[in-house]
Amino acid sequence: VKLDEMRLAVHPGQGLVARFERTVLLVLGNPPPGTAEKLVDACRTADTAADRLRELGQASGTPAAAFFALVEQESTWQLFMAGAMKVSVAMEKSRREFDSTDPQGWVEETLRGEPVSVSVAEKALKAGSQPLSDLIAGVVPGGAIELLDRSAAVAAPKAQAAAATKPRPTPKPDEGTAFIPKAAVSEDDARTSGMPGFEQQATMASVAMPRPVAVETEVEGRPCVTGHLNDPLAPICRVCGGEVLDQVARGPRPALGSLLDRDGAVVAVLDHDYLIGRKPGDAPEVASGAFFPIEVPVDQAGVSRIHAEIRIAEWTVLLTDRRSANGTFIRPAGVNEWIRLEAGHTVQVVPGTGISLGPYELQFDART
Ligand SMILES: [Zn+2]
Repeated sequence: VKLDEMRLAVHPGQGLVARFERTVLLVLGNPPPGTAEKLVDACRTADTAADRLRELGQASGTPAAAFFALVEQESTWQLFMAGAMKVSVAMEKSRREFDSTDPQGWVEETLRGEPVSVSVAEKALKAGSQPLSDLIAGVVPGGAIELLDRSAAVAAPKAQAAAATKPRPTPKPDEGTAFIPKAAVSEDDARTSGMPGFEQQATMASVAMPRPVAVETEVEGRPCVTGHLNDPLAPICRVCGGEVLDQVARGPRPALGSLLDRDGAVVAVLDHDYLIGRKPGDAPEVASGAFFPIEVPVDQAGVSRIHAEIRIAEWTVLLTDRRSANGTFIRPAGVNEWIRLEAGHTVQVVPGTGISLGPYELQFDART
């Protein structure tokens, strides 16, 4: 049983999902103030997580919040379930379901053997996550999770390890000699110094993987009083500022913002996936129509032919470096430094973030 060989797909919803070394946590709904922080904190250290989760889950006889946690021990997985939820565990030759409707419920289970998948949600979860969806570490919003054997889902379980050991690319002469590489902090430095955006890290299993043909454009969200569909976590309607209703609806996903150039001109509206570079049209995924191209001006020395991609997953925008020669950088709102993504890595970006492909800069704007 190896937790780090499982990919963690996060489904949208109220609540949050955390993954650290040997622990996974799902906090459902709106927990009492301070509770989510304590749960996340408990899961940061696997050795003490079980004791602390037990303490939090059984505090004064009533769970303080509905949560699911998984802690990997030497040869077992320990599951902790507080409150009402549905948990489904598929093993090699069997299946186990935990279905609790008791908000005071507390269940502790030890799993032995080889779990193939684990799904957890408040109600029944429609399984079948986007195969690229994979939270490696950190804390992100979410309402349900699926843990799946990465090698079963995709054929490249070791791609990430291979990527991590590759030396960093140095500027190549054929990518333009006029480009002076940006001084930048690394992803790791950004994470350890607590820069915004770097608690929320997403990493794809492999960038070379073929993209699934079916693109999900219908999403679940919460409508406002006049019917605009919103991110389930949005406090108010992003269009009219009106009240967001406490109900779930499905509908076409609206544009999640736009990319502006340095002059403030709109380069792309984020209602589609994009491939950015000097020659994005050369890529098969653009030829197939799965990605739209963003061709940067030819005078932008230092931008690779295929440099980076922007993908939209549910209500989030993901930026991936496509192993570009001179790197892909982000500058979160309120941060002065550019952070260089590891080659091939994916991060979640939010409005206000600056994106830089070598010398070419874009700004992620909330407006559409
Ligand atoms: Zn509205």
